Amino acid sequence: MLVDAGFHAVDGSSEFPLPRCGYVVRGGALIAFAQPDSSEPANAFRIVGAHTDSPGLRVKPQPDTGSFGWRQLGVEIYGGVLLNSWLDRDLGLAGNLVVDDRNGTRLVRVNVDRPICRVPQLAIHLDRAVNETGLILDKQTQMTPVWGTGQALDGAFGQWIAQEAGIERGLVRSWDLCLYDVTPAAVLGADRTLLASGRLDNLLSCWAAISALIEASSTPGNATQVVALFDHEEVGSASTTGAAGPILEHVLERLVLSRGGGRIELLNALQRSLCVSADNAHAVHPNYSERHEPGHRPLVNHGPAVKVNVNQRYATDASGAAEVQRNLDAAGVPWQTFVSRNSMPCGSTIGPITATRLGIDTVDIGVAQLSMHSARELCGTADPLYLVAGLCAVLTQRDRDAPR
Ligand code: ZN
Repeated sequence: MLVDAGFHAVDGSSEFPLPRCGYVVRGGALIAFAQPDSSEPANAFRIVGAHTDSPGLRVKPQPDTGSFGWRQLGVEIYGGVLLNSWLDRDLGLAGNLVVDDRNGTRLVRVNVDRPICRVPQLAIHLDRAVNETGLILDKQTQMTPVWGTGQALDGAFGQWIAQEAGIERGLVRSWDLCLYDVTPAAVLGADRTLLASGRLDNLLSCWAAISALIEASSTPGNATQVVALFDHEEVGSASTTGAAGPILEHVLERLVLSRGGGRIELLNALQRSLCVSADNAHAVHPNYSERHEPGHRPLVNHGPAVKVNVNQRYATDASGAAEVQRNLDAAGVPWQTFVSRNSMPCGSTIGPITATRLGIDTVDIGVAQLSMHSARELCGTADPLYLVAGLCAVLTQRDRDAPR
C-alpha cells in the first residue's frame, strides 16, 4: 500500500536526508512517515501506533513428531491464545525461511495457503463431561497438530517446506512460521453489518493506520505524520522491534537530524507531539454483558472506543482524550468510551509503553470487537472505516500552538 502511494523504503542505516514520505521495516515492525513540505527540525510528530502480531501457533525448530501412525508438527504457543478456537480448523502456514546457499544467507517468504494441518478435538464420546466441566487443554500435549499419516521422520518438515518455497539447492537453516486458519475473511449477518476474520486484533488497526497515513500525507499540516507498527505486543513488547525497544525513537531522531536539528530540537518536538495507540477494544457481548462496566460498554459499529484506565494500563489522560475526541468530532466520526470493571484485571497495549519510553502524550483508542484472541474474531463493518477517518484527522491536525 505504501509503495503504491509513493512512499520510499529507507534502509535503517544509510539514506540521508530522509525522503518526504518513507518507511523503515525491521523484522515484524514498520515505521512510516510523511514530513511536511517546509520542514522545521522541531516540528511536532503526530503518531499512530498499532501492533502487527497476533496470538497463535508457531512451528518449533525441530517440529517432526507423532505416534500411532500420525505425523504431527511441534508448535509453540505464541501469546494469549484462546486455545479452543484453534481446534478443528484447517490450517495453512506462512512466514520466513532463512536459507544458506552458495550466494550466502537469504530470507525467503513462504505462504502455504491451503489446509496443511489441524488440531483435532477429542470426540465427546471420549470426554462425556466436557460440556459440564469445561474444556481444559494442555498446551504441551494437547495442542499438537496432525499434518499427515505414516511415520514421523526427523527433517521431514524442513524438506517439505523447502520444496514448498521452491528452494532446490541450499539448506533451510531456520524459520519463523505461523499457522493460520485458511478460511477467508467474511462479511456476515442478514444485514451484512459484521466482519469475521483472523487477526482483527490488531491488523485491523494496522490497515486503518496505513490507510489514514496515505490519505493524510496528501494534505500535510505542519507536523510530521508517523505510523508505528510494532511486533511482539502480545508477549510484552520487550524486543528490538517491540514498543519497548528503540525502533520508533531512532526513526524520530533520524527525522530531526535529517532536517538539520539536534538533540534539543528532538526533545522540543517530543514535548509537543501526540501518539494515538490503536488496538481493538472489547465490544459488549450479548451473552456475557455482566463482564462489562455497566456505564462503559462499547457497541459494534458505533465508532472507536477511547480507552481509559486510571492504573495506566491505558495511557489516556483527560486532556489527551479531549484532544482526540475533538479530532474525531471534526471528522464526523462517532466515538465511545471503554473502562473495564474494577473487579477485573484490565488488558494493556503499546500505548503506555510508548508514553513511558518517549514521554509523548498518548491516547489509547480501538475498534470494538468480540472473540479477541480467537483464531477467528468478529467486528462491525462500519468501524474500520470510522477508524481510518478518525486517524486521518489525528494525523492532519496542525502542530499545537500552546504547550500542554
Ligand atoms: Zn491487540
